Amino acid sequence: MLTIEHFINGQAFDDQGRYQDVFNPATGQTVAKVALGSQDTVEKAMEAAKAAFPAWRATPPLKRAQIMFRFKQLLEQNKDKICQLLTTEHGKVTDDAMGELTRGIENVEYACGAPELLKGEHSRNVGPGIDSWSEMQPLGVVAGITPFNFPAMVPLWMYPMAIVCGNTFVLKPSERDPSAPLFIGKLLKEAGLPDGVFNVVNGDKTAVDALLHSPTVEAISFVGSTPIAEYIYATGTAHGKRVQALGGAKNHAVVMPDADIDNAVNALMGAAYGSCGERCMAISVAVCVGNNVADDVVAKLSAQVKTLRIGSGMVAGQEMGPLITEAQLNRVSGLVDNGVEEGANLVIDGRDIAVAGHEQGFFLGGCLFDHVQADMTIYQTEIFGPVLCVVRVESLQQAMDMINKHEYGNGTCIFTRDGEAARYFSDHIQVGMVGVNVPLPVPSAYHSFGGWKRSLFGDLSAYGPDAVRFYTRRKTISQRWPSSGVREGSQFAFPS
Ligand code: NAD
Repeated sequence: MLTIEHFINGQAFDDQGRYQDVFNPATGQTVAKVALGSQDTVEKAMEAAKAAFPAWRATPPLKRAQIMFRFKQLLEQNKDKICQLLTTEHGKVTDDAMGELTRGIENVEYACGAPELLKGEHSRNVGPGIDSWSEMQPLGVVAGITPFNFPAMVPLWMYPMAIVCGNTFVLKPSERDPSAPLFIGKLLKEAGLPDGVFNVVNGDKTAVDALLHSPTVEAISFVGSTPIAEYIYATGTAHGKRVQALGGAKNHAVVMPDADIDNAVNALMGAAYGSCGERCMAISVAVCVGNNVADDVVAKLSAQVKTLRIGSGMVAGQEMGPLITEAQLNRVSGLVDNGVEEGANLVIDGRDIAVAGHEQGFFLGGCLFDHVQADMTIYQTEIFGPVLCVVRVESLQQAMDMINKHEYGNGTCIFTRDGEAARYFSDHIQVGMVGVNVPLPVPSAYHSFGGWKRSLFGDLSAYGPDAVRFYTRRKTISQRWPSSGVREGSQFAFPS
């Protein structure tokens, strides 16, 4: 069976320790085993990254960016292979895998602008004969810990920018679908990146804890569930590291009475059931303003949820693949059971779906709940599956109060034709990323991505301009070259 190893100092490495099965979720079959890195393996990666840092720090940003340009070309050339790995281990349909990879490549394109982004700031004559400038220096060895749901894109949010800023990097991808991030990482070597600048350690909590406790790691970027994000932030900062930890979500879409309901329903279908609901920006709650809107939305959604094309992501034309693991399938089905027990109206029940030829796959059909209340478990919890909850309210303000009270604040959107309502909503909603008639308002690569409340721990968001700040340390230098022969007396007052 295929063994997915680590990649340290430009070489494949297997520590012959613990392993975990990797599944094809569409068939339920084991397709590989992944090495679970030990503390020693993490230290080996740390040593490689630390040794590579001085020369990489001294490499001009332009040369670093040129490697990123080649990396982008290699990603384009290997798109089909990468998408096949994504679909095999994650289960998402091929079109969706292509979308994920394209958004990842956009982050590489942004990183190619490093020479411009790292120019710093300069002021001439801040005092008599004194010039002053700020420059962004790299931190050293930085680490990234990533979730299963975007195995290509989320790592690409992190290391292209970290590396062009002059840092060296250790990636700990999800152990559930590790092939794509490993394959992509190796392309960096082909693009000309010196050994040791980028390393991959596969693994679980053992490897993560070794990174959190290592004195070599200067900063950690984490993306995953909120309990782990909180743990990473608390432990990493207690060990003196800079940490950004992006967590889970419960994203609401408000449907106003004046909205184009057909367009809103089409948008909700993709946002709720795309990638089987396993997106941190997935819409999992539709908040309908008024009973007429709710009745119309539920009727139109029901017709479409019933006819979702569900199957192996490898088969062209499918709209939704399986969940990532059997455990996740059981968890999501259990939450649907719970919604029924708590009194929500399960309009469409996807629990007994059978996909011909894929009976062992981790499939769940689309589920649609109506009359969901704020105190129900299905409303409070991030389900991370193909389950959409419809909530009925009487006003925009009631919808907004509900969203603002939720513990998460990642994404949200409003469907309306009313500019005043949209502006009021965008201005006052306590959520980090807002869409107006845009169901998945994932910022483009030259903005930054981050939620509010318990969806992000730390001060800086992921990628874009915030990533330049996260992966660099500012130094401000004031310089004076006195004219020869000019004597200066001591000055005891604070210089002004
Ligand atoms: P997860 O928290 O289980 O795992 C994320 C990473 O943490 C993995 O690399 C995993 O190996 C590691 N990990 C897991 N348990 C750990 C532990 N006890 N100690 C130390 N490390 C541990 O998340 P997941 O299930 O892989 O991904 C889904 C979650 O990620 C969802 O909650 C989703 O909303 C979130 N997510 C958030 C964003 C965002 O940008 N906010 C983006 C994608 C996914």
